[in-house]
Amino acid sequence: QGKGVVNSISLKEGEAPFIACAREVLKFGAAVVVMAFDEKGQADTLARKVAICTRAYRILTGTVGFPAEDIIFDPNIFAIATGIEEHDNYAVDFLEATRIIKKTLPHAHVSGGVSNLSFSFRGNDPVREAMHAVFLYHAVQAGMDMGIVNAGQLAVYAEIPPDIRERVEDVILNRRKDATERLLEVAENLKGARREKIEDTAWRDGPVEERLTHALVKGIADFVVADTEEARRKFPHAIEVIEGPLMDGMNVVGDLFGSGQMFLPQVVKSARVMKQAVAHLIPYIEAEKAASGNGGPKGRVVMATVKGDVHDIGKNIVGVVLQCNNFDVIDLGVMVPYEKILSTARETKADMIGLSGLITPSLEEMATVAGEMERQGFTLPLLIGGATTSKVHTAVKIAPNYNGPVVHVVDASRAVGVAQNLVSAANRENFVADVRKDYNGIKTRFDAGEDEGRLLSIGDARANRFPVDWAGYAPAAPAVTGIRAFADYDLAELAERIDWSPFFQTWELKGAYPAILDDPKYGASARELWRDAEAMLKQIIDGRWLTARGVIGLWPANAVGDDVELYTDDGRGTVLETVHFLRQQMKKTRGSNFCLADFVAPKDTGIADWMGGFAVTAGIGCDERAREFEKAHDDYQSILLKALADRLAEAFAERLHERVRREFWGYAADETLTNAEIIAEKYRGIRPAPGYPACPDHSEKPALFSLLAAQQNAGIRLTESFAMWPAASVSGYYIGHPEARYFGLGKIGRDQVEDYARRKGVGSPQVEKWLASNLGYTARRQPAGAG
Ligand code: SAH
Repeated sequence: QGKGVVNSISLKEGEAPFIACAREVLKFGAAVVVMAFDEKGQADTLARKVAICTRAYRILTGTVGFPAEDIIFDPNIFAIATGIEEHDNYAVDFLEATRIIKKTLPHAHVSGGVSNLSFSFRGNDPVREAMHAVFLYHAVQAGMDMGIVNAGQLAVYAEIPPDIRERVEDVILNRRKDATERLLEVAENLKGARREKIEDTAWRDGPVEERLTHALVKGIADFVVADTEEARRKFPHAIEVIEGPLMDGMNVVGDLFGSGQMFLPQVVKSARVMKQAVAHLIPYIEAEKAASGNGGPKGRVVMATVKGDVHDIGKNIVGVVLQCNNFDVIDLGVMVPYEKILSTARETKADMIGLSGLITPSLEEMATVAGEMERQGFTLPLLIGGATTSKVHTAVKIAPNYNGPVVHVVDASRAVGVAQNLVSAANRENFVADVRKDYNGIKTRFDAGEDEGRLLSIGDARANRFPVDWAGYAPAAPAVTGIRAFADYDLAELAERIDWSPFFQTWELKGAYPAILDDPKYGASARELWRDAEAMLKQIIDGRWLTARGVIGLWPANAVGDDVELYTDDGRGTVLETVHFLRQQMKKTRGSNFCLADFVAPKDTGIADWMGGFAVTAGIGCDERAREFEKAHDDYQSILLKALADRLAEAFAERLHERVRREFWGYAADETLTNAEIIAEKYRGIRPAPGYPACPDHSEKPALFSLLAAQQNAGIRLTESFAMWPAASVSGYYIGHPEARYFGLGKIGRDQVEDYARRKGVGSPQVEKWLASNLGYTARRQPAGAG
């Protein structure tokens, strides 16, 4: 940057003037573009392109002493698809010449005038753009360093519809005789499609208020700063731009969202437009502050993901939705201790507090926050949300700790209604009374139903273990034992294994992929989100935005009761680590009382069984980049990135599990399943995750992590609640038995808790804390900070 480039010199008039020009350029320290042109004319074949550039290179670096890195060759891009057969290979010749120049003429660069290529499609910009994009895609791979092209008119290679791309590629790579005809067949339609798009921009001609509203509703951020500035000059006060056109737009968004005609991805995009507009106005508003007073926000919400928990996609979405509805949101981020939440609420005179959490230990932490609010004399409403939270849990375990209103918010679309009721002078009292009555009823019914008599004793439950016929079972010995780390796993490989359905769920678009793309209700929204996701995924991969690291381990293992012992070696004399599992205790009329240990051969069978573990992340680099998006008021991209990082982490777990089955453990070496079959878990074996229903104790993670040295090998750290950081991480065990299956532990009795505490070498109160959601009896609550 900042260096002069002379465009251009050539051997057109022979060596003497070429050398003279080059010396002149050198004197100025500039770089130079050298056209592939000699005394005979322009180089049109591969051989001539290479020959001329090689000759020029020798003269420049030899006779002239020109620095090789300041030479930029232009091997001529000529028009193709002209109907003249000799022209058909022009693009291929350029690509090949580029490849050879880059290989044989060290440090020299290659450039080209790209739009020549599509000269025969003058007047049809969509085709020209597609041709340029496809050409550049291949040319960059061949080593092209720079080019001249209308950058405002470039299509994204991955976004060109596959059928068009194929036809364009046939022309550029000269792959078939009828390539030009076939491109002409579709060219006219493409032109039509473009015309429609031009009509789309008619909204740009309306008055500025309407343009702002339109931009908000459609989530178009391209013109928002200019439009906001125009509106600001038009209105007497900057604040009126927010109160007028911007709020009008957001109200339309709110109504469409509330009535189910618009969905989360679009709302978040609208919020991005709003935030960018507001960011532009803030300095003016501050300057005009004197005459304010009316029209402030509806209310202020302090939001946080509680201590020990790292998940924030849902919370961020709720925050955005509330902001869209004119709430002032103070987002404290993740892993926030209650001291900070409460002091912030007090200092900012918040109207309510919103807590979020994903993992079960967060449920306990939320109860702690509620208890602290009571102790410190708060009266503010407390909102509870996040994946493991529920109305029942909120009513039974959280609300009783606090006399102020406590409300569970089931998803982002409900948050606004709840918050509005809570700040409404007219509705608040009734709303709070209704919730209280509802929750008290839930608690009364829950307490009445809570009866340890409904559980089997742990002894009886063990007698009803899952009956595996171990006789004749000969587990495969793994091809690779011990641990194996993957330092920088290929993201493109992982992208192929992504299960997209949960991605759409994250955005509250309910339905399975790919059917959701054609869903009558969600389809349009889903397709748009999908396009954005695909485009960002490409950037993540090409730009190495994220790094995937993981580690797996496979160890000799045998079950001893409900524990599984892992041994240092196949002699099985020394225990490396003991994994503790829990057993279902519900009374069943049929079926077993499952425990994951049932699927590992008991020690006394003498069978040499194995078990594995893994920890993977695709979240390295995610937080930093997400923060950059947030700084640019772009929550949409920030949330999109986090959601994609989660997807890649799950795909990483899926891919390694597949490789474990086929290669590393190898018990299913000839497995051939499609991606859909893998996502449907049609394979042999399971990978239960600590914290999930079959093994809900998150506090088993430290042992797994130390077995895997997961912090060193995968860069994943555990919080005090055993959440994994970075958030886009997954860990679990590998169990290979063909009958192994997932189940939910359900409620367990005091007898198992005491037995389990003994096995783990900790106190029962600590187990009760980590397994609070699974207790079939009421444990005494621990004071804050205990355990
Ligand atoms: N295709 C999904 C895979 C993850 S969800 C995605 O991309 O999101 C399924 C995973 O959750 C399983 O592989 C397992 O690790 C965990 N899991 C599901 N049910 C479980 C249970 N009952 N007990 C323990 N782990 C479970």
